Amino acid sequence: QDRETGRLLQAYEWSEKFYHFLLKNTEHGRPALEYLRGRGIGDKLIDQFRIGFAPDRWDTLVQFLDKRSFDLAEMEKGGLISARQSGDGYVDRFRSRIIFPIANRSGKTIAFAGRILGEGHPKYVNSPESRLFNKSRVLYNFDQARSAIRKQRQVILFEGYGDVIAAWEAGVHNGVATMGTSLTEQHAAMIKTAADEVLVCYDGDNAGQNAALKSIPILEQAGLQVKIAMLPPGVDPDDYIRSHGKERFMRQVVEDAASTTKFRLANLRRNYKLSEESGRLDYAKAGLPVIAALSSPTEREVYLRELSSEVDISFESLKQDCNLIRQEQHRPAPGQEDPGPAYSGPQSGG
Ligand code: ATP
Ligand code: MN
Ligand code: MN
Ligand code: MN
Repeated sequence: QDRETGRLLQAYEWSEKFYHFLLKNTEHGRPALEYLRGRGIGDKLIDQFRIGFAPDRWDTLVQFLDKRSFDLAEMEKGGLISARQSGDGYVDRFRSRIIFPIANRSGKTIAFAGRILGEGHPKYVNSPESRLFNKSRVLYNFDQARSAIRKQRQVILFEGYGDVIAAWEAGVHNGVATMGTSLTEQHAAMIKTAADEVLVCYDGDNAGQNAALKSIPILEQAGLQVKIAMLPPGVDPDDYIRSHGKERFMRQVVEDAASTTKFRLANLRRNYKLSEESGRLDYAKAGLPVIAALSSPTEREVYLRELSSEVDISFESLKQDCNLIRQEQHRPAPGQEDPGPAYSGPQSGG
């Protein structure tokens, strides 16, 4: 670790403590404390997640760092502060925002996420990527969750900071979140170092469900088992815990998580009107390839039986179609087929 990295880590550590102090002990922090309390985040969670507040001023952190003789150009390069748009000098990157420190796997703060109080755009501002912070390699709360993850061999993957924090309060200590970006291979590899299974618990809106679909192959490629939690439309885990309580969250979301196949089928089903014959037929056609791709005959049978009762088509017919699709799926890709006896092209009879 070189010197500049060391200085930057130190600056992030001090800044984190400073923001945390401002939230808890000053007049500036009061509205933020109230906002957090309104969301069920009290002193215990504020300490556990080292949450802070950046006041509505241009140079709170700039002054703090300058007084402690940090090189401001270096701090700007490290993403802690911003260069003034016109002229020289520096300004704070985070103003009037709740600060969620982002830690690396050993618990050192390497970035911040700042949330606006209440409504407004952008809702979150993150530190830029820097020599410390690469968002495709960082999972929020991985440091604190690691021992629970190792014990349970399972990770619960959320979309947002609020979800991780609400789940923690509900007793779920193996929760992590991506930084508002899609899941990467590096994230999956990081999870695989401590777990065998991932429960994807994304928001119940279209964006969340699509992100969950995309995460499945990435996690499976890393050798992880995948289950998907299904939340009501428009609700995220944080909302769910707040309105239904932790027991119901554990029973109806965590324990009732779906297999990836069940999730894929449920996701398709939303696009069809099962009350109409054409809708049932179209849903069956869309669902069969998902089932046909399963290698286990037992699993195929289970889902075919379910499909059969949903679309009111006999199990036998569905099974026949499923087998036809399997033959298609297992036909070698074009260009890789067995060429058979060499064909030398049309003979130029001359
Ligand atoms: P809250 O509960 O505080 O309203 P959320 O976590 O439910 O926030 P979502 O809109 O569901 O927010 O977004 C999920 C995650 O995506 C956020 O936690 C954050 O990491 C990221 N995110 C959302 N909006 C932005 C943004 N404007 N810029 C950067 N990241 C964002
Ligand atoms: Mn969302
Ligand atoms: Mn959300
Ligand atoms: Mn939320």
